[in-house]
Amino acid sequence: MDTSLDEIQCLQEEEAMANPRLVLITFDVDGTLIRSIGDKANHLHKRAFAHAFLEVFGISGNCDVLPCHGKTDQMIILDSLEYYGIPRPRVQAKMKEVMVSMVNYFRENRRDIGKGLELLPGVRNLLETLSSHPDVVFGLVTGNLVEIGWMKMEGLGVRHLFTRPNFGGFGSDHWNRGELVNLAARRASKSFPGGFKLRAHVGDTPADVRAAHFGQALAIGVCTGVFSNNDLESSGRECRAIPPFPTIVFPNLANNNNFLCAVGLCAFKQNQTQICPNF
Ligand SMILES: [Mg+2]
Repeated sequence: MDTSLDEIQCLQEEEAMANPRLVLITFDVDGTLIRSIGDKANHLHKRAFAHAFLEVFGISGNCDVLPCHGKTDQMIILDSLEYYGIPRPRVQAKMKEVMVSMVNYFRENRRDIGKGLELLPGVRNLLETLSSHPDVVFGLVTGNLVEIGWMKMEGLGVRHLFTRPNFGGFGSDHWNRGELVNLAARRASKSFPGGFKLRAHVGDTPADVRAAHFGQALAIGVCTGVFSNNDLESSGRECRAIPPFPTIVFPNLANNNNFLCAVGLCAFKQNQTQICPNF
C-alpha cells in the first residue's frame, strides 16, 4: 500500500522533533535594531500616542512624561494616562480603542516613518546574513503594536529580510514582555513545526533580558540603547527564574561572526580562534 501524503508529513515532523536544526531568534526594535536621532527622535510613534490620548480621552499630552525604556506600548498607555489622572481600569476598558487610534494615525502618516529613526550600525548586514542562513528563522519581540513594529521595519527597508511568514510577539498582544517571547515561539512553531535547537531573544534593556529568561530563551543584550553592559548582565543575575543560558552582552550588532557564534551557528574556519561562549 502506498504511503499517504499525511503519513509522509507525519514522519517528517517526527524526524524533525527528534533532531531540530532550526535556531529561532527574536529581535526587539527600538534601541536594538533602530535608534532615535535628532530633535524629531521617534517622532511618528510619539505623535501616535499623543493623537490617541486626545482622540479617546480628550487628554492633550504625550508619552514623554515618564521613562519608556523597556515598556510595551500598552504599559506606556496605562502609565502615561494614569499620570494625566485617568484611572487604570478606565484606560484598560478603552485600550483597544487607543491602540486602533494609534495604528490608524501611524498608517495615515507613514510617509514620516523615517523621520528621527535610523538602523543601528551592522543591523542591515546581520539581517541579510540571517536571511540567507538555512538554519535560522527570525522575527520581532517588541513593545510596539504589531502594525507599528512592522511598518517601522518596512519604512527602514528591512522588512523583506525577516522570515516569511512574518511572526513575533508585540505590545498589542500583551502588556508583559515576557509573555511575548513565548507567544512568538508558538507562532513560529505553526510555520516551522518540530521544535527549535535554540531560542534567543535580543534586546537593549533589562526588560528584554528578563523577558528572555521568562521565555526560557538565550538572552542577548546589546548596549545600543541607554543601558550599559553591567545593567544588562546584572538584570540577568537578578532574575528569579533560573535561565537555561548565561546572558550574553554585545556592544552592538556589528560583528556577524560573534553573533552567529552566540546562537550556536559559528562560521569560523578551522585555523581561526573560536570565541564561542560555552553553553
Ligand atoms: Mg528596546
